Amino acid sequence: MARNIGSQYTTERVLGRGSAGTVWLGRGPDGPVAIKLLREDLAADPELVERFTHERRTLLGLEHPRIVGVRELVISEDGTDLALVMDLVRGADLRAHLTRHRRLAPADAVALVVDVADALAVAHRAGVVHRDVKPENILLDATGHAPRALLADFGVAQLIDEPRRGTTSRVVGTPDYIAPEIVEGLPSRAPVDIYALATVLYELLAGFTPFGGGHTGAVLRRHVTETAAPLPGLPDELWELLQQCLAKAPASRLRAAELASRLRELQPVLRGLPALDIESGEESDAPVRERAGAEESTEEAETPRGAVALVRGSVSDPDRVTHTRMRVPDAEELAGGANGTARLPRTPGQRRAGSARHGAAERRRRLAVTLGAALLAVALVVVGVLALA
Ligand code: ADP
Ligand code: MG
Repeated sequence: MARNIGSQYTTERVLGRGSAGTVWLGRGPDGPVAIKLLREDLAADPELVERFTHERRTLLGLEHPRIVGVRELVISEDGTDLALVMDLVRGADLRAHLTRHRRLAPADAVALVVDVADALAVAHRAGVVHRDVKPENILLDATGHAPRALLADFGVAQLIDEPRRGTTSRVVGTPDYIAPEIVEGLPSRAPVDIYALATVLYELLAGFTPFGGGHTGAVLRRHVTETAAPLPGLPDELWELLQQCLAKAPASRLRAAELASRLRELQPVLRGLPALDIESGEESDAPVRERAGAEESTEEAETPRGAVALVRGSVSDPDRVTHTRMRVPDAEELAGGANGTARLPRTPGQRRAGSARHGAAERRRRLAVTLGAALLAVALVVVGVLALA
């Protein structure tokens, strides 16, 4: 049913539903628009409305062909509606596209990521960090010859999830795409968007994210302690770029503009390459992860593709929406806590309790003790016999 939003807009039908509310196809003085109507409980929160009002200029100020522009912020006087009137994008979001295709050919994946990197370059130059780059927030304009990507929801996650004063141990974002510095409680600056975008690129190529799967705490821990498994068949130059943008240290990552130009340089090399041949099926990721040195294979068979449950029996979290009010695990939890499944980063070569190599060493030690005891017993018997003789 049609509904008035402010004095200029009407809603026509639902385009999609998200964690923050519903997106409607709407109509305004200049033609069709998309209207994101925030959930009632959010619209009724005066602090949240105040934050949106405060950031109005930033929200409306970002204009670029690869950014879903916000045209208007509508706050109804009776406080029931809080709506963002946006440019209408005719096409699916990247999550739906990826679900349909499973994996994209490297040239196609890179073309979409270049679009998003261009959008980020403009935003970062204006001092705006997106903070929630993920396939759900990348919309595809399907009106042209090849799909073009547009980045939506600039700053929205941050405005909705902003930690309340005095509570610092909250993180804003979606676990699979969260940069390690956020897990460690550092402020989110531009490099968090680069890390998230590199995660999206990895996912478009592989069909799964580098650190996703299983319990949220395990996902966050992997961002801090593990390295991404290499993708067999990917040209080295592209793998190097990916690794650089997935660097744990924010300063080591490329800037958005540099990432866009480096990816553009690679495009001729990638043309015609098929999507990576990474076997599908539940056991498919084991070889990839083993190559990366992850020692978690025993629990992989129980979890969906791309997921590694560190806690036996834990279910993978299919809910990829922005997780609000997620707590940053403290040092003890990152180190493993009571169940001992997570672990602290270790220095290379140092043995890890519970690892296969550690088990072998323990067996060798026991064997040596048993042999020693047997030799001692034989020696005592010989001494005894000689004494009797
Ligand atoms: P979330 O709140 O989880 O980020 P959104 O509310 O942004 O989700 O979006 C929900 C869905 O609405 C998207 O997946 C997309 O399909 C659709 N959508 C969002 N913005 C637009 C837009 N500007 N034009 C067309 N469709 C959109
Ligand atoms: Mg969104």
